[in-house]
Amino acid sequence: MLNIFVIEKDKLVSNINIVKKKAGNSKIYAVVKGDGYGLGLLRFAEILRDNGINAFAVTEPEEVLALRDAGFKDSEILMLRSTAIADEIETLIKNDAVLTLGSNDAAAAANGIAGKLEKKARAHIKIDTGMGRYGFNPNAAESVKSLFEYMTNIEIEGLYTHLNRAYKSRKTTIKQISTLFDVEKKLKDSGYSPGCVHFAGSSVLFKYNIDLRDAVRIGSAFVGRLAVRCKNSGLEKIGYLQSRVCEVRWLDKGQTVGYGSAYRASRPVKIAVIPLGFRHGFGVSKIRDTYRIRDGLMYVLSDIKKTILGEKIYVTINGKKARSLGHIGMLHTVADVTKIQCETGDIARFDINPLYVSESVEKTYV
Ligand SMILES: *Cc1c(COP(=O)(O)O)cnc(C)c1O
Repeated sequence: MLNIFVIEKDKLVSNINIVKKKAGNSKIYAVVKGDGYGLGLLRFAEILRDNGINAFAVTEPEEVLALRDAGFKDSEILMLRSTAIADEIETLIKNDAVLTLGSNDAAAAANGIAGKLEKKARAHIKIDTGMGRYGFNPNAAESVKSLFEYMTNIEIEGLYTHLNRAYKSRKTTIKQISTLFDVEKKLKDSGYSPGCVHFAGSSVLFKYNIDLRDAVRIGSAFVGRLAVRCKNSGLEKIGYLQSRVCEVRWLDKGQTVGYGSAYRASRPVKIAVIPLGFRHGFGVSKIRDTYRIRDGLMYVLSDIKKTILGEKIYVTINGKKARSLGHIGMLHTVADVTKIQCETGDIARFDINPLYVSESVEKTYV
């Protein structure tokens, strides 16, 4: 295969150790959703377990099955998505996953199915503090209490929220966390123990110097790609796409590259053609990454700069940065190698967030 996705295990292990240190006494749920953030669910989970992390968080019952089938028998697996779908709940309970309960419907369904299976459904309660997908309204603490009171087939082991603005607003985030604590207090005042209380993902772990409580749920820090800027985290980006230069040619002044002639040579240019494009995931992240930051003025400006003034995306060839020219194609990238030693067959590397690498690209751990 010409194109491969390379995952550097030593950097991954180093990131894991940094996360462990940062989390201190709080338990770590390694979030392995999205095929392990693109690293491959099972391989990523194995490396985490080999390095002392044995609690995982997923979003699909199939991921629970895959982990259990692969021998993760004694691992704790927290299902992050609340679901009221009966067959999903059945799979989760049968495989000893910890459910997330975010509504009365989900709780009633879990309680009923657990009863039928003559098992206890282990669960964490989710409170909606702004994400708006799953979770009890924090003002409906009475509903939450009723889980403890009436749902006798459910074992509540935790209480949490999914923060939606941690990367951009400390103020709202702190407020959301205290909303969670208010629910915790109401439960405790009524004599119920909510168990493991958690709220932090990677942004809070690395950017907020606050009490993390009982657990953290970490995904992006492991791949070294935080949504917040954090200079001295020590985390290293992992993952790159690797391809090879299949053509080296010269373009005359005035010749163009790509659809729409997005690049026109203002001087003779030596180009390298590499058979890898957005179909493989390259160049996609630049667009998608902005979801986190679109409303920050600084990033609006950088978006404008990219689209109007011409985005600069680089490829590394023989250790040197080469600017990509024109739009990245579905299956091709063209790079300026005028000042770089470059021959046909040379290896080209593309920095990429593993999340965006197409599953059609073969992964290799090095
Ligand atoms: C994905 C996810 C996380 C992990 O977030 P990162 O910022 O990638 O660490 C934590 N909690 C929930 C509920 C998630 O869905």
